[in-house]
Amino acid sequence: MPKETVFNRQSPTGTSSSIANRQLIRPRRLRTSPGIRAMVRETELNARDFIYPLFVRHGAGRTEIRSMPGIFQLSVDEAVREAESAFSLGIPSVILFGIPAEKDPIGLENFSGDGIVQQAIKAIKRSIPEMVVITDVCLCEYIDHGHCGVLGKDGYVLNDPTLDVLRKVAVSHAEAGADIVAPSGMIDGMVAAIRAALDGKGFENTPILSYAVKYASAFYGPFRDAAEGAPKFGDRKSHQMDPGNVREALREAALDVAEGADMLMVKPALAYLDVIRVVKDAFPELPLAAYNVSGEYAMVKAAAANGWIDEAKVTLETLTGMKRAGADLILTYHALDAAKWLKG
Ligand SMILES: [Zn+2]
Repeated sequence: MPKETVFNRQSPTGTSSSIANRQLIRPRRLRTSPGIRAMVRETELNARDFIYPLFVRHGAGRTEIRSMPGIFQLSVDEAVREAESAFSLGIPSVILFGIPAEKDPIGLENFSGDGIVQQAIKAIKRSIPEMVVITDVCLCEYIDHGHCGVLGKDGYVLNDPTLDVLRKVAVSHAEAGADIVAPSGMIDGMVAAIRAALDGKGFENTPILSYAVKYASAFYGPFRDAAEGAPKFGDRKSHQMDPGNVREALREAALDVAEGADMLMVKPALAYLDVIRVVKDAFPELPLAAYNVSGEYAMVKAAAANGWIDEAKVTLETLTGMKRAGADLILTYHALDAAKWLKG
C-alpha cells in the first residue's frame, strides 16, 4: 500500500504542515470537468427505468387531478395517447389503475372481460404492441367500501376470501393481454394464489411484480383523489405495514420470493430509501421497483409552482436517489417530464 494512503487513512484531518512531504489525496481531481464527472458517475437515470402510472375511466376526454398537476383521469382513447407519448420518450412500460362505472361489495367490474382496465389493456397493446402493460391487482378501487379486500362483519379485511377475488382479477387481466400483473393489497398468500391461478389458465409466462413491501402511508393522499379509492371508514393498517418497521420488510419480501414473485416493489419510495437498500441487498437476484408515490409528486409540484425549488433538478435528484438506493425500476408520475429532461 502506498505510504500516503496509509497516512491518509490514519490521519484524515492531518494539517498541511504535517503532510508537507507527502502527497495530498485529491478526490476533487475527478470533479474538475463535466466530461470526467460523467465518466465516473456511479448511478445514471434512464427513461427505461420508468414505469408510468395511468388512471383509466369510462367516458370521453381527460380530467386533471386537482392534487396532482399534469396527471389525469383518462378515457381509454386518452390512455392510449398518453401511453404513446411515454413510449416515444423511451419509457417502456405503463401500470394501469381503473375507475369502474359502479362500485359494489365484491367489485364485479374488476374481473369483467369488458371492465375499464381490460379495455385499456387491449387498446394500448393494439396501438403499441411493444409497450409493457402492467396492471395493478387489488380490490379497493372497485369495491363500495374502498378497502383492499372482502370485509368481515367487524370491518376486518378477510384474507382468504380476498384471495379468491384476486385470482379472478389477475386471470382476467392476463386474458385481456396484460404483460405483468402487480398485486398491491398486502394480502397474505396473494402471490402464491395468483401464480397458481395464472398457471392453471395457461399464463405460466406472465410475471408477477409484487407490491411486497407496502407501508400504511400518508403519502398516498393524492392517489386516492385520482383513483377514487379512499376507504369510506377506518384505515389500511391491518394489512399495510407500519412505517417504523424494516425487519418485517425482509420477512414480507422473503415470503413473496418463496411464493414465486418475479419482481419486488417497495412503496412509498422517498421516506423508505433504507428499506429499498436492505431489500435489494437481501434479494439482489430479483429486479426491485420503487413507487415514487402521489404525495411525493404533489410536494415537488407544489413547491415548484411557488418558485421555491427547481422542479427538474429536484425531480431528477430524487429519482437518482431511489435508483442509488437499489431500485432498478421506478414507478413515477414524473416519468414524461423526467424523460424529457434527461434528453436535455
Ligand atoms: Zn388496494
